[in-house]
Amino acid sequence: MSKPRVATCSLAGCFGCHMSLLDIDDRILELVKVIDFDRSPLVDYKSFTGRCAVGLVEGGCANEENVRVLQDFREHCDVLVSLGECAIMGGIPAMRNLVSTEECLREAYLDGPSVHNPDGVMPRSVELPLLLDKVRPCHEVVRVDYYLPGCPPSADTIWAAVTALVSGGEVELPYQLIKYD
Ligand code: SF4
Repeated sequence: MSKPRVATCSLAGCFGCHMSLLDIDDRILELVKVIDFDRSPLVDYKSFTGRCAVGLVEGGCANEENVRVLQDFREHCDVLVSLGECAIMGGIPAMRNLVSTEECLREAYLDGPSVHNPDGVMPRSVELPLLLDKVRPCHEVVRVDYYLPGCPPSADTIWAAVTALVSGGEVELPYQLIKYD
């Protein structure tokens, strides 16, 4: 019998949530006995190879490529999980929502105190994905089934959620896994 497939991606995130996933340490050997990874930076698959039981999404949507990837995850995954604060609320990248995109780019490339850009060049290649006007949490772009809070969620939280989901159970997180003091 084929194993359930799990996909992961990082949109506008820092990969800290993926690092936390890897912090399950040697339990990853138990995990790969019961699941196969599909599209994920963990196995370097760049596109889906089939239907996935679970998709873990780190980061919100800051540009058009993030939106396309997230829609692809929604299309291919039975259960979609917003993993961490950036996916749930936009996180640090969403701090740019306080100013216009133009103002943000000027600060980053022209006016910032540590910027050295004597020619005043702004990145405008067609190969760069267009920025959205605001950084959006995942649930504002597609339907999301579960939210795992934390920056990042702990390895034990991710373990508890993923093992429950791939076995078809409900995610029940004890208080110790969702308290942050
Ligand atoms: S939630 Fe925290 S650890 Fe996860 S991507 Fe955002 S900043 Fe990084």
